[in-house]
Amino acid sequence: MSARKPYVGGNWKMNLNGSQAVDLASKLADGFTAGDQAQATVFPAFPYLEKVGQALTAKNSAIQLGAQDFYHQPNGAFTGEVSLDMLKDVGASVVLIGHSERRHVIGENDILINEKVLASLEAGMEVILCIGEKIEQREANQTDAINTGQLGYGLAGVSGEQMAKVTIAYEPVWAIGTGKTATSQDAQNTHQAVRRALAFLYNDGVANATRIQYGGSCKPTNAAELFAQADIDGGLIGGAALKPEDFLAILQTAAESAGVPA
Ligand code: PEP
Repeated sequence: MSARKPYVGGNWKMNLNGSQAVDLASKLADGFTAGDQAQATVFPAFPYLEKVGQALTAKNSAIQLGAQDFYHQPNGAFTGEVSLDMLKDVGASVVLIGHSERRHVIGENDILINEKVLASLEAGMEVILCIGEKIEQREANQTDAINTGQLGYGLAGVSGEQMAKVTIAYEPVWAIGTGKTATSQDAQNTHQAVRRALAFLYNDGVANATRIQYGGSCKPTNAAELFAQADIDGGLIGGAALKPEDFLAILQTAAESAGVPA
């Protein structure tokens, strides 16, 4: 039986205005009562972090507040960027790093991603490190090589103790926002390979304790099958995280998957 607590993140990306973001947060806070069985974090856009955090706190919600990005330097001449201290100041305790849109649309590379991982752990933040292959890489049978490479670069210099604050999100790039989901067996195979890579980088204890989320068109209709896989410990959700009923259904599925023999 897996002792890992299922973990679901809701990445709101560049969507929702302030009142929509607060409304969504309030509905999620009302509906999510399974904080003992599953962990949940929402990632609103920067301008609404504080308001969303206040809406969650007002309802004493177990849902955590996370940021979609930041810059790893503490302060200075970095126009347009936001520091980890600023995020902490508005109540964020989790950061997403290496999302495929930041890697492949904005152009972040593994060196910057690693700097962000190290800075956030140093600052005491929880990290969700995203990895995932593109379709042409999958078709060239490079799936495990790409994911293992992104994992190794992203975690360079991270100690086994620090891994307690790291979750990996495996997100095949071809499945994000496309409606195409990896089959649960394909996803499980990759998650298993990622866990093996963690054992190689650290040890079996760290590999077995680290949560690995699946991301890529995860919905209420496919979450149960995905989360039932031995090495899938929840999900990172985009589109379905914008609909309160869908995100709550996925959270409920994650909570129910807790303790399922693996
Ligand atoms: C994501 O943004 O990380 C994601 C998985 O998006 P979607 O669920 O829409 O595919």
